[in-house]
Amino acid sequence: ISAVEATQAHLDRIHAVDSDVHAFLHVSDSALDAARRIDERRTAGEELGPLAGVPLAVKDVLVTTDMPSTSGSRILEGYMSPFDATVVKKAREAGLIPIGKTNMDEFAMGSSTEHSAYGPTRNPWDLGRIPGGSGGGSAAAVAAFEAPLALGSDTGGSIRQPAHVTGTVGVKPTYGAVSRYGAIALASSLDQVGPVTRTVLDAGLLQDVIGGHDPFDSTSLTDAWPSMAAAAREGARGDVLKGLKVGVVKELSGEGFQAGVQTRFDETVALLQKQGAEVVEVSAPHFEYAVSAYYLILPAEASSNLAKFDSVRFGMRVQPDGGGTVEQVMAATREFGFGPEVKRRIILGTYALSAGYYDAYYGSAQKVRTLIQRDFDAAFAQVDVLVSPSAPTTAFKFGEKLEDPMAMYLNDVATIPANLAGVPGISVPIGLAPEDGLPVGIQIMAPVREDARLYRVGAAIE
Ligand code: GLN
Repeated sequence: ISAVEATQAHLDRIHAVDSDVHAFLHVSDSALDAARRIDERRTAGEELGPLAGVPLAVKDVLVTTDMPSTSGSRILEGYMSPFDATVVKKAREAGLIPIGKTNMDEFAMGSSTEHSAYGPTRNPWDLGRIPGGSGGGSAAAVAAFEAPLALGSDTGGSIRQPAHVTGTVGVKPTYGAVSRYGAIALASSLDQVGPVTRTVLDAGLLQDVIGGHDPFDSTSLTDAWPSMAAAAREGARGDVLKGLKVGVVKELSGEGFQAGVQTRFDETVALLQKQGAEVVEVSAPHFEYAVSAYYLILPAEASSNLAKFDSVRFGMRVQPDGGGTVEQVMAATREFGFGPEVKRRIILGTYALSAGYYDAYYGSAQKVRTLIQRDFDAAFAQVDVLVSPSAPTTAFKFGEKLEDPMAMYLNDVATIPANLAGVPGISVPIGLAPEDGLPVGIQIMAPVREDARLYRVGAAIE
């Protein structure tokens, strides 16, 4: 199959189903040209990589020169970036074909895409349900066969939770393993870009392309990484589970976890044991404070990252009565351009950082973050990987958690600890919950820099 055929087939599929799914905010009009160039190079005898000519859906949080980048926000409507995010640049260099920009909760705040300024994405498994968030567009595009591969970003679960609810594979790499340059920042100490795909091997191939050191990202690691695709192939061959020490996180089960999610998870753990893994229960006592600490650290960082949307440097400008002072223009622009969830978090964040409250809120949250990191250190002294359900429930219905921010926030209990500690995590589909027939994923977490281990174990489970 040629790159043009593959690209055309996915454009046709988008044309056929995206009015229902709404995974895309923008579909590329230059994808076919890019595909044609790949075919020409191949015909000319050039040796191209394994993903050359493969269409790629790109979360709208990543800036692109040939398509608008809005991060799901009204304030960036139509914004054209003068440069490509490093991951997009690397993808193009590897011959991948960016086919469109995917929908997301505004500035990646949310777990359902209901906070997108451009309307929600629908879950292809059940159009009455959410596709997860914030990267619901990327996950839905892959699940609906509108794209074979997608890029997402994960600050508290925005790759792994959408993967869980759409039956796809999602990876949050080690913090610093993949460049954040050109990813519109939500919370810089937590954000990480990663793959959303249909198989663990596909994710490994994509991480091999986008990963590695980037001098434009000051937190980018300088490690020489092993091939994640090779790790996935090794895992698929079997026997990697023999003698593998697997820790089941005690705090990520029970209350709040849907029965069918727990059932599928328990069955998978039993299977791991049957194949020779040593399964033990591991306690991470501070995980219960992870969501609270996250919702202080994230708004604090987000409120300062979003200060740059001041009506001058980026995006739209609203002028009250065609005039106004600088402050009035700024206020009117931010009032109109930001949605309610973004405003909620800016207020939370500026409050938590304000003089007099800083120690009590932000300072305490940072201490909790350290305790969670120590929980991981203690756990990884005993086991090779930690496992949990990727999220407590299957895809919920539209509107179910929209009016109750706490309920929405709690959908990320299982994924947030990895972001706070910088460790890598993967969500791999493990079947459907018996009560609603919707997809369930297992989350596997490994120590910092051990991304290859996730691919090995993930491919063995898949
Ligand atoms: N749902 C989480 C939040 O709203 C995670 C977001 C993310 O990972 N970008 O913050």
